[in-house]
Amino acid sequence: MPDLEPVDESWTTALCVVAHPDDLEFGAAAAVARWTDQGKTVVYAMVTSGEAGIDGMRPEEARRVREAEQVESARVVGVETVDFLGLPDGVLEYGVELRRAICAAVRQHQPEIVITNNFRDTWGGQNLNQADHIATGKATLDAVRDAGNRWVFSEQIDAGLEPWGGVRQVWAASSPQSGHGVETTQTFDRGVESLRAHQAYIDGLGWENFDPEEFLEGGARQGGTRLGVPMATTFEVFPMGWGE
Ligand SMILES: [Zn+2]
Repeated sequence: MPDLEPVDESWTTALCVVAHPDDLEFGAAAAVARWTDQGKTVVYAMVTSGEAGIDGMRPEEARRVREAEQVESARVVGVETVDFLGLPDGVLEYGVELRRAICAAVRQHQPEIVITNNFRDTWGGQNLNQADHIATGKATLDAVRDAGNRWVFSEQIDAGLEPWGGVRQVWAASSPQSGHGVETTQTFDRGVESLRAHQAYIDGLGWENFDPEEFLEGGARQGGTRLGVPMATTFEVFPMGWGE
């Protein structure tokens, strides 16, 4: 029996907030391609530029390379807007400054759904999550609520942004506590292509024989089995209203 429910797809605008270029491409991008095909608008906000992510490349150069790779990988799945929030890669701290930066992105783009990555302690089993991901996910939940309160980060309101309380749900992709999913059978290949766009990053990992298609297929098939379809991306859904 399938144990995942389909996510709500009755929305028109989503904002994806993740710590690093490549975070969305390890599973969520195929779902993004499905939604842009449906005519929905999806915007990406990268909290950092992943400038500390390539061992053999200095941060100044890695920033330039990775921003370009992210813009290309977004284009592949129908995303035209990629914001880089400019916080420091590898040393993000959960707290007010991170909330402030994400809140500004929420107010600017006024999404109904906000998507981040898994921010639980692990990816399931013993595979530890990474500190920037955990900080970003937690701060995203808070920033969504901050965005609706004109007296929080009020300098953004003074500068012309409006409060935005219209986010209905926050979704954390690939969470080990996922209870929802969306079918990605038709758009799986574009998800693979969007991961391949991070070529300098993948080369820098030094993982021998890493095959993006094989890697993504494992997760997509597992999610699909749980949703009752060939392939799926999984999400933990956080309702942002009361009484749900
Ligand atoms: Zn990451």
